This record gives sequence, C-alpha cells and structure tokens, in this order.
Amino acid sequence: MKNLTLENIANVCNGIYRGDEKSRWTEVTAITSDSRQAAPGCLFVPIVGERVDGHSFIPNVMEAGALATLSQKELPEARFPYIQVASSLQAVKDIAKFYLEQLKIPVVGITGSVGKTSTKEVIASVLKEKYHILKTQGNFNNELGLPLTVFRLRDYHEIAVLEMGISDFGEMSRLADIARPDTCVITNIGQCHLEFLGDRDGVLKAKTEVFRYLKEGGRAILNGDDDKLATIRQVQGKEPIFFGMNPAFPVYADQIQSRGLKGMSCRIHLPEAEFAVEIPMPGQHMVYNALAAAAVGMVHGLTPEQIRRGIESLEPISGRFRMIETDHFLIVDDCYNANPVSMKASLDVLKDALGRKVAILGDMGELGEQEKELHAEVGDHAGRCGLDLLICTGSLSRYMSEAAKAANPNLEVIYEVDSKKLERNLFSYLRDGDTILVKASHFMHYERLVQRLEQYK
Ligand code: ATP
Ligand code: MG
Repeated sequence: MKNLTLENIANVCNGIYRGDEKSRWTEVTAITSDSRQAAPGCLFVPIVGERVDGHSFIPNVMEAGALATLSQKELPEARFPYIQVASSLQAVKDIAKFYLEQLKIPVVGITGSVGKTSTKEVIASVLKEKYHILKTQGNFNNELGLPLTVFRLRDYHEIAVLEMGISDFGEMSRLADIARPDTCVITNIGQCHLEFLGDRDGVLKAKTEVFRYLKEGGRAILNGDDDKLATIRQVQGKEPIFFGMNPAFPVYADQIQSRGLKGMSCRIHLPEAEFAVEIPMPGQHMVYNALAAAAVGMVHGLTPEQIRRGIESLEPISGRFRMIETDHFLIVDDCYNANPVSMKASLDVLKDALGRKVAILGDMGELGEQEKELHAEVGDHAGRCGLDLLICTGSLSRYMSEAAKAANPNLEVIYEVDSKKLERNLFSYLRDGDTILVKASHFMHYERLVQRLEQYK
C-alpha cells in the first residue's frame, strides 16, 4: 500500500515501532481487523470489542504471514514486528487519513438520516460507467468501517464512494476529517439517533459538520425537498446543488410512475439535458436516490447517457428491498434496518403488490424518548395503507399493532412479543400468493424470518 511502511504507520499514529530494521522500511500489503482475512505482508489491527479482544488473534495472524500487528499492549515475548499504540481504533483513523492523502483519489461522501446505503449503491452504479470505483461494502460507515473501507483502496481506483453514518455530535467531523470529500451528498434529515441529537435541528447540525471538511472546490449535493436541508444557502462559498421534485432545482424529476414492485420510472432533468429512466427498485424514495446519483454523475463529468445506464443497471442488495420470489410468496426482504421514515416508505410501496399484502414489522431502535409515539405513528400508517394482514413482534411493536388496529378495525393484526415464538406459527397466518414485507431494526434479526419464508416448501 502506497507509502504505508511500518515506519510511516508508526509515525502517523504516534506509535512505537518494535521490530527489525528490514520490516520497518517495508510497505504493508493490506490492513485488516479481521483475523480470518490476514494475508501475507498485511498489518493486523486488534480491536478490543465488548465480547472479543482482537489481541488474542495476534499469534494466528502472524502464523498466516502478516508482516506486523498493532498492539495496545507491550509484547515482551514477540518475535515479530509490532507497533505499540495507545488505541487501535484511533490508530486506524490516523492511518486511513494519511493513506487517503497519499492516494489523492477523489471522494464522494454520503450521509443523511435514511437512505445512505441505497443512495451509495445508485451513485456507485452510476460512477462505474466511467470510473474504476471503490465503494463502502454493506454498511461499513462508522469510525471503524470507514477506515477499513479506505484501506481497500489501491492506486488503480479512480474514485471512492464512501458512506458516513453517525449517531452523535463530533462524529461526522472525525469521519469527514478522514474522508475529506470532494462531493458530499445528504439524503435527508430525519428522526434518527434522537437520544443523542435531540431533534431534527440537532441532526442537521451534526450531519452538516461534514461541510467544514469538503475539499476546496468541492460541492454539496442536497435533497431540496427536505425542509431542513432546503435552508442551506452556501457551502464553502458555493451554492449547494439541490435535487428533488421541484422544477426550480438544477436536478429534478417529473413524470414519476410506479411500476409496482418492479421499480419506478421518471424523467430526470439536469441543467443541460434530460432523459427518461427506469429505476429497478420500487418506492418514491428511489427517485430521490437516483436524483442524488444523477447530480453526482453530472459533477463528475458523466454524460446523461452514462448516468441513465448506471441507474438502470443498479443491482439489489440483501436486506434492502430485495424481492425474493418463491413458489409460495413474494418476499420483500427489507430487514436490514428500520426507522419511522423508512417503515412508512416501505409500507407505501407495498400498496402496489398483487395478492394479499402482508407486513411483518418489528421494533425500531434508537428512537429516544418518543419511541412509543413513533411506533404508534408507523402503526397508524400501516392501518391506512391497504394492508390485509399486519404481524408485529418486539416489545415496542405493541404500540404499532394497537395503533394499526385503532386506525383500521377491519385489519387483521397479530402481535407476538417474541419473534421466535412467531416463527413457530408463522405459516398458519400466511397464504400462497401473499406479498410479504419483512422489516425491523437490525437487532431484531429478521433475516432469520426471511430465511424461514424463503425455505418454506
Ligand atoms: P443505516 O443508518 O443503517 O446505514 P441507511 O441510511 O444506509 O441506514 P438504507 O439502508 O439505504 O439507509 O435504507 C434503509 C431503508 O430506508 C430502505 O430499506 C428503504 O426502505 C428506505 N429508504 C431508502 N432510501 C430512502 C430515502 N431516500 N428516503 C426515505 N427512505 C429511504
Ligand atoms: Mg447504511
């Protein structure tokens, strides 16, 4: 990895190098915190987690041919090179910042309350029409995930598409200080992480910390239909590029039509071009995500045709509105995550389903003091969106099921606090031909339900 000799690494993270001279001047081949991925010549980063202390894997990774390891402890017995640091987590951030500076690869940073990963995927799909890209894998968007993503960059990459997720003040500054985006996208300002950020104004303040770290000449691309983002007039002396449904925006969409669960179609207008496009993922929110990607494509010099092709070749990812057709059901696997905005958005998409419309919804986490009300709000929405059957599990989802029933007394509602118990009776509630939305916060582990549904014979 360019300029990442053990000597330079020790310097940038204020570590003490302990090892032989030859290794000191050798560049590492990779950096990983996953001992199973240790490869010859790599640097291992032991992270101290709640359950596991990465230091216990050091012998294994050295056995696998690692060049060296970081260590928060002195290792008097070590017969391999290591860099002693105060904190491995701080060290990876320092190293990532240095490495990205060396590579000089343009960065697109994506943040926002909801839709970061989805938007990142469309942006990556668009940019790959012109560039050799690297994108955040899955949801590696935090203070460990972002550095680990940066370490996957190599000389031949032409642009990095990085997701940045936060839950508290100051976190965005730390992420953005590493990423130093040339282009930053904010999808929306919603009600997430309210226990730390207070209200939407707090969320706005925390997310827009990124602006201070935008590279010179960089651009902010913002959802202009978001009332909070719409108040932003200048970012580093330049107007933001707004996208949304308003023809006054430089990037906007009209002629929006749902193709049911197959996706959306619309016409995208850029300042100097316009084109019709089929977005292969359902939901009005995907039009927003495609607009963000069109704006990024425009800023990075893609032709309208390249942008259109990029949007149309988007591939679904597991857990995020992935459609699975079995002999019995059409499963909408949206189990990766949930919050009030995305729950309602997904329920709206279900309206276009054929057959009975079933939603299996679980608790949403990290909603702070208003958690009961917000669950009830989603329940109320579920009651009014034409569902045939609502199944809820989890302790907070009781408020969802009650509100759904109150909004629509005819709706069949099943509530079971324990999702394992639900699994046992699940198929007695379902019928062939059902379209089933499965959605909850990650900690509910609804991927197990998706698997059960998928395997049902
Ligand atoms: P996380 O905080 O877990 O990283 P995220 O911001 O990356 O979440 P996604 O995983 O992209 O969000 O999307 C979560 C859900 O929100 C999706 O499954 C989809 O239902 C919905 N969604 C996607 N894009 C948007 C959007 N622009 N606006 C509202 N809802 C969206
Ligand atoms: Mg994400």
